[in-house]
Amino acid sequence: MELAFLGAAQTVTGSMHVLTVNGTRILIECGLYQGRRKESFQRNRNLPFDATQIDLLVLSHAHIDHSGNIPSLVKSGFRGNMFATPGTRDLCAIMLRDSGHIHESDAAYLNKKRRQSGLPLIEPLYTQEDAARSMDQFISINYDRPFPISPGVTLTFHDAGHILGSAMVCLDIDGDGRRQRLLFTGDLGRVGAPLLRDPYIPRDVNILIIESTYGDRLHGPMGENMSQLRDVVNQTCGQGGKLIIPAFSVGRTQNVVYTLHQLFKNNEIPDLPVYVDSPLSVNATEVFLLHPECYDEETRQFLAETSSQNPFSFNGVRYIREVEQSKAINSLRGPAIIISASGMCETGRILHHLKNNIEDKRNTVAIVGWQAPHTLGRRLVEKQKRVKIFGEEYVRRAGVEVLNGLSAHADRDELLDWFKQVRNPGLERVFVVHGEKEASESLAQAMGGLHPANILVPEPGQHVRM
Ligand SMILES: [Zn+2]
Ligand SMILES: [Zn+2]
Repeated sequence: MELAFLGAAQTVTGSMHVLTVNGTRILIECGLYQGRRKESFQRNRNLPFDATQIDLLVLSHAHIDHSGNIPSLVKSGFRGNMFATPGTRDLCAIMLRDSGHIHESDAAYLNKKRRQSGLPLIEPLYTQEDAARSMDQFISINYDRPFPISPGVTLTFHDAGHILGSAMVCLDIDGDGRRQRLLFTGDLGRVGAPLLRDPYIPRDVNILIIESTYGDRLHGPMGENMSQLRDVVNQTCGQGGKLIIPAFSVGRTQNVVYTLHQLFKNNEIPDLPVYVDSPLSVNATEVFLLHPECYDEETRQFLAETSSQNPFSFNGVRYIREVEQSKAINSLRGPAIIISASGMCETGRILHHLKNNIEDKRNTVAIVGWQAPHTLGRRLVEKQKRVKIFGEEYVRRAGVEVLNGLSAHADRDELLDWFKQVRNPGLERVFVVHGEKEASESLAQAMGGLHPANILVPEPGQHVRM
C-alpha cells in the first residue's frame, strides 16, 4: 500500500491524495488550489498524475478546495467512478457549475488584456459544460452504508459535521496479507453546530489522515452565536437601520437563516423582512431542503414543534434570484436583514448592498465568516474608516460587528478531543494534512503527547509506503 500526498500538504487548499492498494489507484479528493494567481494557474492546469491511470475517486465534501478540480480530471481522460454522499453530489452539481462560470469569466477578462498585447489567448480551466459533464460519473452512497469499491477495499462514509453532505472516508483494506482500516477525516466540523450532526467517532482505526486547519487556534464558544446575532438584529432594528450580512452561499447562509428562524420563533427578534439575495445561495438552500437525512436531532425536533418542513422559511424571508428584485431592495425603507454573497465581499451582489448602505450610521454589517487578508471583508473587520467599492471610495459610517464561533471547522481543542476518542492500541500511523505548516506541526506534537503512534506532517508530494 502506498499513500501520496499531492495537495493540501502543509497548506489548506487543493486537497488531493492518491492511495495505491492491490493494484488500484484511488484518488482521494481533487480540490482546486487557491493561492497566488500564477501558482494557482500552473498547479490547477497540470494535474500531478496521468488522469487516465486513476481508477476511481472518493470525495469527502463539496467545498471547492476538495472538489473543484474534478472537471479538469474528467477533461484529462479520467473515466472511473466518483463516490460521494447524496448531499455532496447535489451540492457539487451547483458548485462546480458556478466554479466553471467563474473560470469562464476569468479567462474572458484575461483574454481581453492578452488580445490587446498580442499574446496568445488562454482557455478557461474548465467551463460550465465541463462541470455538468463530470456529474455523469458520480455514484452516491449514504452515510454508514459499507460499499465495496475495488478489490479488497470497502468504503464507508461517516458524518463529519462540517457542511451538508460532508463525510469522513473510511476504507477497510484487505491487502498484503493483512486487514487495515484507513480513515481520512476530510474537514471536521464542530460539536453542537446548527443543523448538522456532530462528527462521528470511528472505531479501530489503524491509519489516520487528519485535517489541521485550526491545529493551533481556538474559536469562541458555540453557544454565543445566537445571542450575538439576536443583539445585533435588535440594536440595528431599534435604530431603524438595515443589517447587511456577507455570507458564503453554501453552509454559512443556511446557518444564519436557520438561527434567525429560531430567534423569530422564540420572539427574540421582531418580524422583519429578511432577504437572501444571491442565486447560488438560493440554489444551495434548495439542495439543503432535499437532504433532511443530514439534519441533526435538534433540527428535527424544532421542525416538529413548528409544524414546518423547512428550517429556512419563516414569515419575513424572501429568496431573490432576479436582478430586478435585487435592485428593488435598495428602495425599501425601514429595518431589514440582507444576506448576500460573496462571503468575503470580493464579488457578487453584496457589493451593491454595501455601496448603498455603508454610509448610513443606522446600518450594521455583521461579519460571520473568516476574511482573507487584502479582501474588502478583512478591511471591514479591521473597521477601516474609508473603503473602496467598485473602485470608488466610501466613508464607512455603518457599524461593524464580528460574530465569532460560526466556523465550520473544529478548532485545536475540538480536534484533540476527537482524536482522544479515536486513538486505540491499533492506531499506528497518523498523517496531518490540510493546514498551514505551523498549524499541522503544532497539532502533530499535541497528538504525539496523547498517543505513541508514528505521526507525520507529510511534505507536499511525499510518497509513503506502508
Ligand atoms: Zn471544507
Ligand atoms: Zn477544506
